[in-house]
Amino acid sequence: MKKASINGKIIPASEVAIPISNIEILYGFGVYETMKLRKGNLFFVNEHIDRLFNSAWVLGLGHEFTKKQLRKWIEELIAENNAESTNIKIILLGGDEQKLYMFLTNPLYIEKRDYRDGVRVITFPYERFLPQAKSLNMLGSYVAYTKAKGEWCYEALLVNRDVNITEGTRSNFFAIRDKTLYSPPSGEILDGITRKTVIECVRENGYEVVEEDIALSDIFDFDGAFLTNTSGKVVPIREIDGKSFGEIAPNIAGVVKFYDEYLKKLSQKI
Ligand code: PMP
Repeated sequence: MKKASINGKIIPASEVAIPISNIEILYGFGVYETMKLRKGNLFFVNEHIDRLFNSAWVLGLGHEFTKKQLRKWIEELIAENNAESTNIKIILLGGDEQKLYMFLTNPLYIEKRDYRDGVRVITFPYERFLPQAKSLNMLGSYVAYTKAKGEWCYEALLVNRDVNITEGTRSNFFAIRDKTLYSPPSGEILDGITRKTVIECVRENGYEVVEEDIALSDIFDFDGAFLTNTSGKVVPIREIDGKSFGEIAPNIAGVVKFYDEYLKKLSQKI
């Protein structure tokens, strides 16, 4: 039976309960993280814990948990579940009685051919509230993502009031021209851990990275575009709102390959 953890205490996952008296839950006053364990390697644990604490800080969500405690509880959860390859979700709820939940979730793996041929996405007008926080306020993103799924698409790209593409509902966005990557400024989006590490990795491989607004109306002037997130890694986009980039450009295929190699190298060090 799967185990979960509440404030460091291991219990059967089926017994996890959220107190309905905690009004903060209904208001979405909480923050979360999803990190990945693959073949026993836990990726970017310190970065995820740092971001969780930063999200809490952005919302003014006070708590007394420490980073050291979290690292220990994550390790205990993995050991108790004999987990090898899974995602680990952490939810920190604010309010009078702060609660830290940890449990395992199934990663959303995508098909191999999607890395080669790209995925379809739609656009959706929405600006995330306090975008640098990974908060439980997910209603807008959920509605956008559900619409995307209804149209057999992988993701919805969020478009702001200036009609710029900011990010996906659960991913960051890049456009590419030759060997230059363009991504919206980090102050206006969630600072994705995959985004950050992709930038580091492509720079090592001779690409340049520019942070600037990306107008939806200009998107087909680029060679192509892709999404990044923890589960999907680098996911090329084939089609936006039914309009196609055509075949996935070799410079994007290069990013997919370089990032896979980067993670492989990293897993040898963990
Ligand atoms: N933007 C949003 C809004 C997200 O929810 C996510 C998923 N955490 C991302 C970007 C990608 O972040 P990461 O690479 O850390 O998974």
